[in-house]
Amino acid sequence: MIVDLRLKMDAFKQMSVEVAECKRCGLWRTRKNPVLGDGDINAKIVFIGEAPGYMEDVKGKPFVGAAGKLLNESLIKAGISRDKVYITNVVKCRPPENRDPRSDEIEACSGYLDRQLDLIRPKIIVTLGRHSTAYVFSKIGKEFKSISEVQGKIFEAELWGEKIYIIPSYHPAVALYNAKLKVSVEKTIKLVSSIKID
Ligand code: URA
Ligand code: SF4
Repeated sequence: MIVDLRLKMDAFKQMSVEVAECKRCGLWRTRKNPVLGDGDINAKIVFIGEAPGYMEDVKGKPFVGAAGKLLNESLIKAGISRDKVYITNVVKCRPPENRDPRSDEIEACSGYLDRQLDLIRPKIIVTLGRHSTAYVFSKIGKEFKSISEVQGKIFEAELWGEKIYIIPSYHPAVALYNAKLKVSVEKTIKLVSSIKID
């Protein structure tokens, strides 16, 4: 167990070195800092966003800007402590002007997310927005049509030989100026606490 933990920590350290030097896609040219992820690498719950925005790029940490504030509020309302979960994105470097990540960039970067998930082996994955939802659905062989169709529902899947739960949510950034979507995000994140995990 202790050895496992040490190996896991080393693997995350190694990945942060790799990401800092990564030129697998063109986003390295305009990034200030890559954002690998943040939180507890032993967490049972992982949140996956889209890509770093302005503040995330400056600070090198995920969800530390306006969308992060909304995520933090939703976590508090759901009784979930942010430091007990792990938070990351599909793409680790900020796309210029916060444009959507392109499919070639997602493809180039997704190996890091796969490695993070394989190391953490979460019981619950909360996907924030359509990009991370589409990516995780493709991983479990499930067709993804639209975020509005799947958000707020709990999906069961088998990964790492175990049953896990996937909870898609609207992205907190789109909920910033839309009260209805904000309520949806909060409700969806509350679903996490309704699942019994040991
Ligand atoms: N939006 C995201 O998808 N990820 C972040 O880290 C910040 C904003
Ligand atoms: Fe590498 Fe991902 Fe950054 Fe592209 S976005 S340069 S693949 S770390």
